[in-house]
Amino acid sequence: MTEYVDSTITFPYKRSLGPMLQTFMTALTEQRILGIRNGDAVLVPPMEWDPATGAELAQDFVEVGPAGTVQSWTWVPEPTEQHPLDHPFAFAFIRLDGATTPLLHAVDAGSPDAMSDGLRVAPRWKGQRVGRINDLACFVPGEESEVDGEDAGPLDEPVTRMDYDATITYRNPVPPSAVRAVDASREHRILGIRCPVCERTYSGGRGYCPIDAIELGPETEVDLPHTGTITNFSIITPIPYPGQTETEPFVRAFVLLDDTDVILVYQPVVELPATEVRVGQRVSAVWASPAEEDDEYGGMGGNYGSLIGWMPTGEPDIDDPDLVNRIF
Ligand SMILES: [Zn+2]
Repeated sequence: MTEYVDSTITFPYKRSLGPMLQTFMTALTEQRILGIRNGDAVLVPPMEWDPATGAELAQDFVEVGPAGTVQSWTWVPEPTEQHPLDHPFAFAFIRLDGATTPLLHAVDAGSPDAMSDGLRVAPRWKGQRVGRINDLACFVPGEESEVDGEDAGPLDEPVTRMDYDATITYRNPVPPSAVRAVDASREHRILGIRCPVCERTYSGGRGYCPIDAIELGPETEVDLPHTGTITNFSIITPIPYPGQTETEPFVRAFVLLDDTDVILVYQPVVELPATEVRVGQRVSAVWASPAEEDDEYGGMGGNYGSLIGWMPTGEPDIDDPDLVNRIF
């Protein structure tokens, strides 16, 4: 059975809301829904410009709802994690009382049989409101608003910005050779694969010889030495972006394994301050204790399993100017 590894990449943004939406979002924290007058019409959510003519609108806000009438709807039988509710619900155009335009939002009706055009609905507010459209958790059938959980009340300050995390989760298959390499690392072995045609030895990768384009199965596996020499390294200074867990500069080193042509790339170093790492330094493998085992596959440079890094052996450095050119 193929193993998979899930990865998520998130780009966190803060966006400024502008004069209309910041008033609208601030009102949501007070359990109020605002529209804006545009002639005889009331637009919800408020807009900065007349959608028909592009004329700038005065900041003439009107409180609407909180109840309203479903104009049209569609049922979502299998919500994803990006949907507002974690169980089946309806997306509906809801014309709030006093508004001219419909608001698109979720209705928690339980079943599509409970939905109909003309259905009266009212807000279910979140208890903890931060000035986002999902402060309105959803709408529910009936005339009465409700609050989900303890009502924390409005915020002290007007809402001027909104956090927005653009997130993608993707899934990659783990090659069988990588699964075997991780299993071997549990036994504190560093597995390589040796091509029977070109006799090159590889570590990591997808289980193919890139020169001869042949698959390298378990019969080609060899044990690699646990000592080597640093040929290159980078010192990474962590940037404090949201979600960053590293706070101190750290090293990723390239290690040429003894008596082989195998370079393990982007390896962590252990008990070796960043300021003391040198090209030519002799290092040996450091293995995780059972409590430190990492079940994850993959990672930068294919470092995985029980091999957690490399520490100095204390031997004299290798003095070879060509070492620095050994990156693959
Ligand atoms: Zn080959």
